[in-house]
Amino acid sequence: MFCPRCAGKTITAGVTHTTNRSIINRLRKCAECEYVFLTVEVAKHSDFWKGYVKALYETEVERGFSNVRKPLKP
Ligand SMILES: [Zn+2]
Repeated sequence: MFCPRCAGKTITAGVTHTTNRSIINRLRKCAECEYVFLTVEVAKHSDFWKGYVKALYETEVERGFSNVRKPLKP
């Protein structure tokens, strides 16, 4: 994965996961600018995405973006 700040190469600096290993978080660090960021690995059909979309929608509304469409009900 490339750094979202400078597009440099990154390394994994740490890994955590849920008890059943369905969600894996990786702490990554840029080898160029030392920017540290988190990535998430989740199966495409996981319920994780329902909560993610809901939280993203609420954040965008809080930020005042009025053109964000409300997520569909499950
Ligand atoms: Zn970087």
